[in-house]
Amino acid sequence: MFNTKRRYLANGPRAIALLLAGALLGCAPAAPAGEAPAVPESYFEYEYEKVFDYYVIQAWRGLDDPVPAYTPKMVARHTELVGKLPWVSPTASADENMVLGRTPGWPKNPDWPGDPEIPSLPMYGYQITDPDVEGEKVKVVLSAQNHSTEFTGSWVLEGMVNFLAGSDPRAMFLRREAVFYVYPDVNPEGRYQAVHRIDLEAAPDPNAGTNMRKRGNPQLYAAGERDHNRVWTTRGRFATVDTITAAMKKDTGGRADYFWDMHGPQEPPNWRSPLLEARINDYAVALMKREPDVLRCGPPGSFKRNVAGGPPGKMSLWAASAEGLSATYPYVYEPGGWTRQRLIDAGRNLALALHDVLAAE
Ligand SMILES: [Zn+2]
Repeated sequence: MFNTKRRYLANGPRAIALLLAGALLGCAPAAPAGEAPAVPESYFEYEYEKVFDYYVIQAWRGLDDPVPAYTPKMVARHTELVGKLPWVSPTASADENMVLGRTPGWPKNPDWPGDPEIPSLPMYGYQITDPDVEGEKVKVVLSAQNHSTEFTGSWVLEGMVNFLAGSDPRAMFLRREAVFYVYPDVNPEGRYQAVHRIDLEAAPDPNAGTNMRKRGNPQLYAAGERDHNRVWTTRGRFATVDTITAAMKKDTGGRADYFWDMHGPQEPPNWRSPLLEARINDYAVALMKREPDVLRCGPPGSFKRNVAGGPPGKMSLWAASAEGLSATYPYVYEPGGWTRQRLIDAGRNLALALHDVLAAE
């Protein structure tokens, strides 16, 4: 499974230094044989167009320092960058460019000449783990962009990935103990539509014009569905959902320990799980210590109390089900209307909480 990366490792630090040279401006520190090279935080910086003209949902209103929308191009650039590291590789379902497949796209419709074309877009899947450590590992699935306008979830995922793929000793520990399966954009056409503020006349968004929360994509709207987080139990209806669910099952072998679906923004910032055990386990306790300002939903409080119930088709419920990933601890994260840095820190905290749990075992 790690043949490509093993080749880099077999070639020693020189190959890895060359691999990182572009980002390190030719000054990569030489790592002794067998040791991972240091990755400076600047490695994870990339150029992107800052899009601020997006649908604003409640928790963002009045924010002095708005966070740029997270575009499909940013997903591609970040994935490519992270994918060059020796401990990152395509998942079993992905090709060498970490592409699981492409969305169907929304072709130009002659009946609606004002409607633009939406291009077919790649869906990505990659995994982060230490390829030199074999045997049973904790399986963690990370997913973002389920809801197309909820850019915050993508920033949280980026923060988590940058930490996990970086040089912090706790990240190196996590890479030895766990494998992280990352699906950074599970709804690329919805995100494209949201970033470009596209209202298709042929497939209007049932939510647009009411609360301006675009939650789906063109295929969903054309089929009369309104919410991308209600269709995860469908089969054969939506190519994107079929591709992502099949990939997650194949890549993980059909079972996950932890599962994160990143959303938001929301007030109050919160996280939740459809399973009681996941609300009270060691990870939940560690998470509340790392993020004391973020609410754990469900009883005894009143905010999103009924988190275990439907509606069916939610990604976290699918992940928890035997038809899905039989995930032991499925979670949904909804950051608040935060700054970019706070969102990045949240992703780091989700990883650090897992470190707290696994290091204590
Ligand atoms: Zn959402």
